[in-house]
Amino acid sequence: MSLIVQKYGGTSVGTVERIQAVAEKVAKSQRSGNQLVVVVSAMSGETNRLIGLAKDIDAEPCLREMDVLVSTGEQVTIALLGMALKKLGVEARSYTGSQVCILTDNAHGKARIQDIDGHRIEADLEAGVVVVVAGFQGADEEGNITTLGRGGSDTTAVALAAALNADECQIYTDVDGVYTTDPRVVSRAQRLDKITFDEMLEMASQGSKILQIRSVEFAGKYNVPLRVMSSFEEGPGTLISLEDEDQMEKAVVSGIAFNRDEAKLTIRGIPDQPGVAYKVLGAISAANIEIDVIVQNVAKDNSATITFTVHRNDLTQAEKLLKQIATDLGAQEVDADDRIAKVSIVGVGMRSHAGVASQMFESLAKEGINIQLITTSEIKITVVIEERYLELAVRALHSGFGLDAPDPEQG
Ligand code: ADP
Ligand code: ASP
Ligand code: MG
Repeated sequence: MSLIVQKYGGTSVGTVERIQAVAEKVAKSQRSGNQLVVVVSAMSGETNRLIGLAKDIDAEPCLREMDVLVSTGEQVTIALLGMALKKLGVEARSYTGSQVCILTDNAHGKARIQDIDGHRIEADLEAGVVVVVAGFQGADEEGNITTLGRGGSDTTAVALAAALNADECQIYTDVDGVYTTDPRVVSRAQRLDKITFDEMLEMASQGSKILQIRSVEFAGKYNVPLRVMSSFEEGPGTLISLEDEDQMEKAVVSGIAFNRDEAKLTIRGIPDQPGVAYKVLGAISAANIEIDVIVQNVAKDNSATITFTVHRNDLTQAEKLLKQIATDLGAQEVDADDRIAKVSIVGVGMRSHAGVASQMFESLAKEGINIQLITTSEIKITVVIEERYLELAVRALHSGFGLDAPDPEQG
């Protein structure tokens, strides 16, 4: 008998009919001999609707109350799925995050799971009950409801799979696996049979919203076999696992990720002295603003320029801080630009291949796309470009690295 954790995302539980279809799938898996824990998201659009209600009252609502509010979306789904399962004759019980002891820190809106006490779930599973758990939520030490950040139900599922030592964690969604890039942007993107944790982590960190970053971190840390598959059609999906043995045959680039969530800030004419980077970037970090790409350059006259990116939501605050720092340092000017996008190519094959970066730059050059910033890791190269060229860049790189599916029109 295998213990499987299944997670169904918002679209998969978007209507009562879809919840009933999920119940059928769960019942089928149980009939074939599996013990099942099912994690669900809020019905699609619900979390955004709840956030909208809060914003109608206060543009910056209290984060504690916000968590009490947005966690209700998942509670609706667990109850409905519990009912649908019982209607099919499956013994099921639904639980909120705190009821199954998902303990988190108290960082409302972006809480981290610290511990899960699996006893209650294990007792139900022993008794043949399907356990339905609300994703995205937990409670802190004092019992306050917390949420795990957007897309957090993925992390609930993987954390439960790790805590219960499950045989597999299956993420059911509206695509049939992880693709070489978002299939909504590149129609010739291809499903990957396998991808490594490291690659998936880079894809998620660089903007592929198919899995929450933290869920991939968890899966890698506890070696939870993770599979992304379709709620609507049968198929093997994509297995995310440790390094591929047949890596030699792998493409150099496995996938392309992108995002439009960042903005770029530049401070020019600062002195080229020890401690200046700390003064500039330290002040931004001290304001709890996350910094992503950083580039520093020194001109002939010994004045330095630092450019970095932050989340667009933090741009106004970061720009204000940077202007203050510029005044303190006697810098020349500060520029802010939120019309940028980040594109990354990802692949473990890069470790053993040279010339990948120049191939990337060549593909972009051929399309006349200017590169503003470049940053690399062992298995990833990221460029920042003007936002309006994003889709063109992704398509050019997708075909440039040979990832396009064969054109059906050309047989
Ligand atoms: P769920 O509601 O099930 O959690 P999400 O919307 O969070 O689903 O994630 C699924 C979506 O992720 C897909 O509809 C697809 O548009 C998007 N996506 C982005 N990058 C990729 C990728 N590389 N492969 C597959 N889907 C991707
Ligand atoms: N409902 C939450 C969201 O929309 C969590 C999730 O779906 O994973 O972000
Ligand atoms: Mg999701």
